Amino acid sequence: MTDAARKSWVESANAPGCDFPIQNLPYGIFSTEGGPRRCGVAIGDMILDLGACEEHGLIDAQGTFAAAQLNDFIALGRATWAATRARLTELLAEGGDPSLPLVPMAGAALHLPIRVTEYTDFYASRNHAWNTGVLFRGPENALPAQWTHMPIGYNGRASSVVVSGTPIRRPMGQVRGENGPEWTACRRLDLELELGAIVGADSTMGERVGVDAAEEMIFGYVLLNDWSARDIQAWEYQPLGPFQAKALGTTIGAWIVPEAALEPFRSEGAERLNPLLPYLQERRPGFYDLTVGWTMNGQKMGRTNYNVMYYSAAQCLAHHTVSGCPMRVGDLLGSGTISGPALDQTGALMEMTGGGKNPVTVNGEARTFIEDGDEIGLYAFAEGDGYRIGFGPCTGWILPAVE
Ligand code: CA
Repeated sequence: MTDAARKSWVESANAPGCDFPIQNLPYGIFSTEGGPRRCGVAIGDMILDLGACEEHGLIDAQGTFAAAQLNDFIALGRATWAATRARLTELLAEGGDPSLPLVPMAGAALHLPIRVTEYTDFYASRNHAWNTGVLFRGPENALPAQWTHMPIGYNGRASSVVVSGTPIRRPMGQVRGENGPEWTACRRLDLELELGAIVGADSTMGERVGVDAAEEMIFGYVLLNDWSARDIQAWEYQPLGPFQAKALGTTIGAWIVPEAALEPFRSEGAERLNPLLPYLQERRPGFYDLTVGWTMNGQKMGRTNYNVMYYSAAQCLAHHTVSGCPMRVGDLLGSGTISGPALDQTGALMEMTGGGKNPVTVNGEARTFIEDGDEIGLYAFAEGDGYRIGFGPCTGWILPAVE
């Protein structure tokens, strides 16, 4: 249970608006100059060196905290996640041990927190599905017939997932030209504001995971930007879905916010348009009251709430296994673009600009899609009673295409 009043002896963690109070304790991978990568937890403006904690016998995670990725720790299972969280809370709470190995976050490099085993991206916001459906296929065919009955997704590339702060290269590709295909640098480069769920347990081949069991398998969440080449997408996506349009890179935040930190913010999602089949019905709401938004070159752009989503991560995970498809620790499940109903609540430029027809002003400059050098940042936070659960930054900027 979260104690909203608890404070840390790490003073910066108690500052109002701090992303990383003692109620959060997100996990990441860091290194300092010349040192190896190892596991850490964010507290205020510091990182607690979990590798060193384990070496000194302050915490026991079966040696997994010395690893350069969190997969081995996550694979220890829910009981270990809970025990570790309780121990970290004890160590970092007021009255805890001030000699713990802390590293200033400002002087540390942050790395991909997990070895991404596989990456699947869903399409779970009705507003986004509707808006993009109208732009790609017109209002009559905007929402496919199956959309309100099951989460739609595609299998992405784990190899293209990078950590916040990594530049992204504008892709070259085929687009629809006046007289057949045209070879060009992408002209309609976009972001997608998403939340990624990190799968924390394996399932076996042939096993169907129920939606309640699926919820138990989720270790935590990261911010996720699914960079999208809309012109390449429009030419290639039917009938098998996006391919090269989504392979240029996917950026995730460096900090995995544990599901336990989000538990007090559990929320209903979007209103159901029809009853779901029993295998997708949740016992309790699988969404969170979590403000999410994005910035472009530092200017605030779209902002909405994760609870506008139609399918939760647990529903996506359960559906992912209906065929018997096995899930593995370190699988990353993207939520799909999180968009509210209004234009200033959209999580992609394609929606915000009506497919590039209505430019938006960013620091005095007109934009329809992303230009070379533009920086996109995502943010998310939940507001508790006197504390806030933040996700830290998820940024990336665009390098010119190599023609
Ligand atoms: Ca997406």
